[in-house]
Amino acid sequence: MTDRKSLPVVADEPADPSRRAFMRTAAAGAAVAALSSCGVEMEDFLRGHFKELSPDELRGVLAKVEKKNLERFGKKTTVAATGPRPGVEFGYGLDLSRCVGCRRCVYACVEENNQSRQSPQIHWIRVLEMEKERGVDLAHANHYYEADAVPRPGKFYMPVQCQQCRNPPCVKACPTQATWKEPDGIVVIDYDWCIGCRCCMSACPYGARHFNWATPNLPAGELNPNQHYLGNRPRPKGVVEKCTFCIQRTRAGRYPACVEVCPVGARKFGNLLDPESEIRRVMETKRVFVFKEELATHPQFYYFYAT
Ligand code: SF4
Ligand code: SF4
Repeated sequence: MTDRKSLPVVADEPADPSRRAFMRTAAAGAAVAALSSCGVEMEDFLRGHFKELSPDELRGVLAKVEKKNLERFGKKTTVAATGPRPGVEFGYGLDLSRCVGCRRCVYACVEENNQSRQSPQIHWIRVLEMEKERGVDLAHANHYYEADAVPRPGKFYMPVQCQQCRNPPCVKACPTQATWKEPDGIVVIDYDWCIGCRCCMSACPYGARHFNWATPNLPAGELNPNQHYLGNRPRPKGVVEKCTFCIQRTRAGRYPACVEVCPVGARKFGNLLDPESEIRRVMETKRVFVFKEELATHPQFYYFYAT
């Protein structure tokens, strides 16, 4: 069990105003080599950090992404950069006694967040199948179960996605500050700043980050045009991506796609700072636990058994 009242919040390091500082380091050669093999343009790579952009610069960056979307998909899109709201800190609850392992959440997430459909196939959510008799036992978890009907006898299911840690090892591992934690708890990635070194992937103990080994395969007809710069905008080849609690939805007051689609109501989401929210009710009335608590990552993602 986690003492929720005393959870530490790790302050963001101030962003280096330029990656030129990073480029001056011994890793510069490797960074340029990595950049040349991915889809990020040098002009985007050298611009100021997202957190340092003026409103005018930000508008220019968003307009450029919309233009690129139009060229690549022939479809008009809206790319927002809606910021965190004061007094909001998102939390997620997953009821393991309800999840039936249907993977509807996996595919709703793929569609909502413009994930590559194949070669590479990218899923931000993985559902693990485990034996009821063993309890949560990762060594014997089946990631690739195939079943005509779920739940299968004697099994239970544990969906895993980015845990939006309060003490995120991925953020510390990134050499370019391309990933950071926002005040509402969402760990974001600026794909234009990512150099594809995959240090964050090695650091994440949840396997929540995914790398685009090839240009993402996203049919134009399936593109979700409602996008967020730090979330579901189409990614280039050679960058890392992961769950953002559907930043394009949740910062607009909507539920994440996976919460909406779950047919058994296993997924709960809301503002941890609002005493009336569903997630607070879960936290206060259920025995919640966090995944790999011993690592002190302090997730904002909580598992529980309602029954
Ligand atoms: S949609 Fe709900 S029941 Fe199905 S796997 Fe996801 S969390 Fe479990
Ligand atoms: S919150 Fe959104 S991004 Fe995260 S797993 Fe659910 S659908 Fe995917």
